[in-house]
Amino acid sequence: MSKPTMIECPSCEHKVSVSANSCPQCGAVLRKPKRGIFGKIVIFAFWAFNLLMVVWIWGGTQSAVESSKGLSGAEAAGAAIGTGLGITLLVIIWLIGAILLGLMALLTRPK
Ligand SMILES: [Zn+2]
Repeated sequence: MSKPTMIECPSCEHKVSVSANSCPQCGAVLRKPKRGIFGKIVIFAFWAFNLLMVVWIWGGTQSAVESSKGLSGAEAAGAAIGTGLGITLLVIIWLIGAILLGLMALLTRPK
């Protein structure tokens, strides 16, 4: 006995693959892809995190530009290097966070 791979659509009796979410013949919804509460939180966290990082990096750049205005050559160069390092660090944190949250979103996607 092998597992059934096709089911009958309840509204039009068309044979539909068991993995289909809706009937290709009549469009009836066979099962709703559902993302659990945890999955929803992950998706929300993913977008919130990206937004936060954009604001953070933008804010950091703005304040660095402000504070380096009164500085002379060498000091300004030092401040620029410091800002560059800080932003590089933020981008790395961003990438790691986005990858981790992206993976979690993938793992919690509706089956
Ligand atoms: Zn159907």
